[in-house]
Amino acid sequence: AGAASLALALTACGQNSEGGSKEKSGDSKGATIGIAMPTKSSERWISDGRNVVKNLQAKGYKTKLVYGEDDPETQVSQIENLITQGVKGLIIAAIDNKSLNSVLQQAEDANIPVISYDRLILGTENVDFYASFDNEKVGTLQGSYIVEKLGLDKGAKGPFNIELFAGSNDDNNTKYFFGGAMKVLQPYIDKKQLVVKSGQTRLNQVVTLRWDGTTAQKRMEDILTSSYKSGRVDAVLSPYDGISIGILSALKSDGYGSGSKPLPVITGQDAELASVKSIISGQQTQTVYKDLRKLAEVAATMVDESLKGKKPEVNDTKTYDNGAKVVPAYLLQPVSVDKSNYRKVLVDGGYYTESQLK
Ligand code: BGC
Repeated sequence: AGAASLALALTACGQNSEGGSKEKSGDSKGATIGIAMPTKSSERWISDGRNVVKNLQAKGYKTKLVYGEDDPETQVSQIENLITQGVKGLIIAAIDNKSLNSVLQQAEDANIPVISYDRLILGTENVDFYASFDNEKVGTLQGSYIVEKLGLDKGAKGPFNIELFAGSNDDNNTKYFFGGAMKVLQPYIDKKQLVVKSGQTRLNQVVTLRWDGTTAQKRMEDILTSSYKSGRVDAVLSPYDGISIGILSALKSDGYGSGSKPLPVITGQDAELASVKSIISGQQTQTVYKDLRKLAEVAATMVDESLKGKKPEVNDTKTYDNGAKVVPAYLLQPVSVDKSNYRKVLVDGGYYTESQLK
């Protein structure tokens, strides 16, 4: 009854005018928020978990943080458990973006607001908000970096050999990253200034299940064996630092990085510690930095405001159609980082200390 009258009161003062707000749980003070992250195998998600917890605690919430070991079924049962345990809000970074429909119906039935964290959850109306980065821009930054580093934008004619890697096909971000990069690269491929000797250019040929670095390493090894008996790789589009590290291993085993075979230009994403160190030592060339502190803050604020019957701020209401609805989003800006600006962006920006990068 308390919840119902509060909801009525909010409607009366106009804060709940759309009827879409999930201020349904009554007093949200001291409530527990469930946070479901995909994996501990990548540093970024460990930071995400920590940052989201910190932000929610600062707002007076309790938290339950779980990691799904990159296994979609594990994640579904973890979320079910969180709902059973009575969490009042959910922040979810999906493993498989299509596997959450039925568990999110349970969340809806329990009036729990759901924030899709970094990765858009597809195929269900039961996602209230999306907190992420401009994902196409991530890909554009990677593609442009390759073009600029090879000098194609300044008149270099090539031809240069490039190989392409994309992320996991069950992650909605993958097509945005790859699409953004290919918007920049495709015109040069069409003009044969960039040549993909493996012939693998379609998204379904270049995806890397669960973003696994070892899978990418094997694919790079196979490509080197089959397509580079002569000639060498000049650039590799890599969507994520863990994949870049795998690709680098394959290249180094093949003799790249010494003598007549310099390492190619290799992109990445997330500014993970190992990759930033690799960039500083001249191996990986670039990464796309996404300030996870800001992302956590946006997601925590979205849950908090939803529970208080306020309307969280969004800055994109068009792009992220999940098949059931266009999910209102707040998108942050990614930043390209290489040897020339890592200090300014990452160290001066307080993301890493200089000594962490040694
Ligand atoms: C994230 C990236 C990350 C990748 C692998 C994507 O959904 O947006 O930041 O590199 O997953 O974890």
